[in-house]
Amino acid sequence: MRAVVEAYGVRKSFGSLEVLKGIDLTLAAGEVACILGPSGSGKSTFLRCINHLEKPDGGRILVNGSLIGYRERGDVLYELKRNELALQRRAIGMVFQRFNLFPHLSVLDNIIQAPMLLKGEARDSAVAHARSLLAMVDLGNKENARPNELSGGQQQRVAIARALAMQPSLMLFDEPTSALDPELVGEVLAVIKRLAAQGMTMLVVTHEIGFAREVADRVVFMDDGYVVEEGSASTVIDNPQMQRTRTFLSRMS
Ligand code: ADP
Ligand code: MG
Repeated sequence: MRAVVEAYGVRKSFGSLEVLKGIDLTLAAGEVACILGPSGSGKSTFLRCINHLEKPDGGRILVNGSLIGYRERGDVLYELKRNELALQRRAIGMVFQRFNLFPHLSVLDNIIQAPMLLKGEARDSAVAHARSLLAMVDLGNKENARPNELSGGQQQRVAIARALAMQPSLMLFDEPTSALDPELVGEVLAVIKRLAAQGMTMLVVTHEIGFAREVADRVVFMDDGYVVEEGSASTVIDNPQMQRTRTFLSRMS
């Protein structure tokens, strides 16, 4: 299987606080991995390293085989220029806890902006694609709404459609349902499940254990800057090998 994400020994510190202590992870095309772990364990920092929103202090990350953030000549790494990094990031869609939609733009305009501005896509084709994405996230009737007219769950589904509009080969989700009222969680998870069924490669940080069990090809448990345990959902969630994983899961249920 072709690897979409390869992380080798990724380290990151903020001042004297070491947040990532050598993360190794590979994700094959079409695979869905859920990352579980306590708050502060480095999950968000790791996702942010994948698209170089954070610069790792050590190790390396490849997406679709290319080194993220750097060019390598001999043994030396040179930082990529802004536009080169922007090109790499196009392949990576990211959805955060907070939706970060543009409040002054309609739903449709939120979605077509990046493909038109960054990829030079023609308006007609960007609109057609946006409409099919809105149908996929069950918001076919909301293209003219403003973000503040939508529920949190609807806004998050727009944010997912917006990320998909760039036709990424990898989607990163950082606790996509944590800011939602409980009754809105299901509709967002349903969209992520649909993407999984379509073969999208995804890395999902979540506290939704039931969702992880159902959707994840692989569950990765992180604690204190390490991957403590990874494997199938039935192993990591239902039959964890490590005490730290057991303790975490027992607190979750
Ligand atoms: P998680 O997503 O697992 O809750 P994070 O990756 O957000 O964990 O954070 C891991 C640790 O790094 C936390 O102690 C957090 O306070 C710290 N941290 C994250 N981002 C920064 C930053 N930009 N500057 C300083 N400390 C940070
Ligand atoms: Mg986080």
